[in-house]
Amino acid sequence: EKKQKEQFIHQPAVTNDGHRVEIAANIACSIEAPAAFATGAEGVGLFRTEMLFMDRHSAPDEDEQFNHYREALEAAEGKPVIIRTMDIGGDKPIEYLNLPQETNPFLGYRAVRIYPQFEQLFRTQLRAILRASVFGSTKIMIPMIQSIEEIRWVKQQLKHVQAELDRDNIAYSSQLQLGIMVEVPSVAFIIDQFCQEVDFFSIGSNDMTQYLLAVDRDNGQVSHLYNSLAPAFLRMLGHVVKTAHEHNRWVGLCGELGADNKVLPLLVGSGLDEISMSAPKITATKAALHGLTLAHCQQLFEQACQCPTIADVTALLDKTSATAQ
Ligand code: PEP
Ligand code: MG
Repeated sequence: EKKQKEQFIHQPAVTNDGHRVEIAANIACSIEAPAAFATGAEGVGLFRTEMLFMDRHSAPDEDEQFNHYREALEAAEGKPVIIRTMDIGGDKPIEYLNLPQETNPFLGYRAVRIYPQFEQLFRTQLRAILRASVFGSTKIMIPMIQSIEEIRWVKQQLKHVQAELDRDNIAYSSQLQLGIMVEVPSVAFIIDQFCQEVDFFSIGSNDMTQYLLAVDRDNGQVSHLYNSLAPAFLRMLGHVVKTAHEHNRWVGLCGELGADNKVLPLLVGSGLDEISMSAPKITATKAALHGLTLAHCQQLFEQACQCPTIADVTALLDKTSATAQ
């Protein structure tokens, strides 16, 4: 069976009837990139840069960050790399930023919300990414966006940094794309308006599940309620993908849900353009994709969206995998 899977490593990820779904890797540092590409990743769908800022006494400077981003882009050899700007604060504390203790960190001061206070830190990260962007296909992604105001502020910052680089005659790619994580429910309801502001979206199923269902993702008392197969989640997914496609924007998914091969038919059926996951799952997912057809996945997704309960969705998936065997 291992040998069978290996034949998919360097093949483009497609369903049995030739529908393309890009299978990408989640990485936390540039060292992980070569291994991810060796397992057949077709891009980096999520580079969690906050790891560069954690467990140290001061922030990494521009050159240190530039080297990390450049390394990841070089390992990608032209394949797309989505660099997510720092998702820090809240449950990911950074000692040297002196952020306040919070009683409800998941609803608090984190990610894009802290950038205005630490404007220079954010600009430095953007500069490092822009400088690295000439080494490959670079995409910038902003975490925890919940309003149009926030993305407009980010775009102003990006313009400012580009003007600085222009002035100093420092090169950066003109092809750079800007996108956002779709992980706060408000974004799903105004996704058409976000299509006017950004190039792409990636659904963060971990946080989206927690916020959509109001279930703390780290609280054991309510963990039985934390489930991305909730019909509400599936309808959100279908709406985001459909609306983004109507506006010619592409949509990926980069939470843990993407690594669950049992759920893969639903993700394919929703129309997602890309699924990003931890490297060890990539080869198996490309192989599983080969066992699916788009028409069947679409039908399954429609049915799942009509299910009233999680148990009904699960039963539907069990029934399908039983007939496939
Ligand atoms: C997510 O929320 O699904 C996600 C990918 O981001 P993180 O797990 O880093 O919060
Ligand atoms: Mg998240």
